[in-house]
Amino acid sequence: MKPPAFEYHAPETIEEVVGLLSSLENSRLLAGGQSLMPMLNMRYAMPDHLIDLNRVQGLSQIALTDSELRIGAMTRQRDIEFSSDVAKRCPIFVEAIRHVGHRQTRNRGTIGGSLCHLDPSAEMVTLCALFDATVTAVGPGGTRTIPFAEFPTSFMTSSLLPDECLTAINIHLWPQGHGFGFVEFARRHGDFALVSAAALLELDRHSTIKRAALALGGVGYAPLRMPSIEKGLIGRRAAPALWAEAARACGDIEALEDVHASPAYRRRLAVAMARRALAAAGERALAAQTAH
Ligand code: FAD
Repeated sequence: MKPPAFEYHAPETIEEVVGLLSSLENSRLLAGGQSLMPMLNMRYAMPDHLIDLNRVQGLSQIALTDSELRIGAMTRQRDIEFSSDVAKRCPIFVEAIRHVGHRQTRNRGTIGGSLCHLDPSAEMVTLCALFDATVTAVGPGGTRTIPFAEFPTSFMTSSLLPDECLTAINIHLWPQGHGFGFVEFARRHGDFALVSAAALLELDRHSTIKRAALALGGVGYAPLRMPSIEKGLIGRRAAPALWAEAARACGDIEALEDVHASPAYRRRLAVAMARRALAAAGERALAAQTAH
């Protein structure tokens, strides 16, 4: 099918974007187009105005400080995949992004578009939940920072206001040498995951777990953080038997049902993916300790 008729706008500044968003009825922002264009062609989205972000200055950058990684909303997934800063300080992003679609889609797709499309199993969405990221949005009311836990409000729906544009994603970094693991189960490589798991671990010098984060993707309308597992890992020594014991609690989650998987199957996948993600994070954290 072909998209419905729409008026095309190509602003060059975020001020122009905000002006268009607040003055036009039924408009949609266009980023990489890798989700929106299929939605238009299938008539799932029928905007009267398309506001193209691809010429707007200052929305695609990767900025690293000691404590934070700030990624502009229009940053291409491929640029994140090949960023040396991201590889050094936030390596799980590189591992996860290679599961996002294909290199062709990553050449155009952006992190902001992925977060705003908000597919429940989108890898970037799961990672933002894992890091307790914040996102920056700009609208006629000014600029605001949204904790990522408050970003998804329901299935593929965010807490962005209709006249707001997402401009940046802020990731609070874990210390160098933290362990990380991202694992997913998809029907084919490049498909959206049925279930994914992302884990971060920080050890003290006795290989005891100081801090843990575990997020599941694809199991609900938003990523699921597992605080009871995270708390239960604190103070335990990193060891293979621990990961299977900890992951078992993922078998009790409420899980989505759709044409691809039953809740029971998703629960079983969640246990397996969590165990593998924790194991990968544990191995890397221990390896980082011996390397120093
Ligand atoms: P667009 O498609 O341009 O926009 C997506 C939505 O976000 C639209 O509603 C748009 O209005 C809104 N939007 C975009 N930018 C902003 C902004 N700055 N502020 C407010 N609203 C905004 N994704 C995965 O995560 N995992 C996968 O495995 C995966 N597989 C794919 C396989 C194929 C074959 C294809 C074509 C896509 C796949 N995708 C996958 C989706 C891809 O990653 C998209 O790039 C992503 O979902 C949307 O990013 P985009 O930049 O293309 O946004």
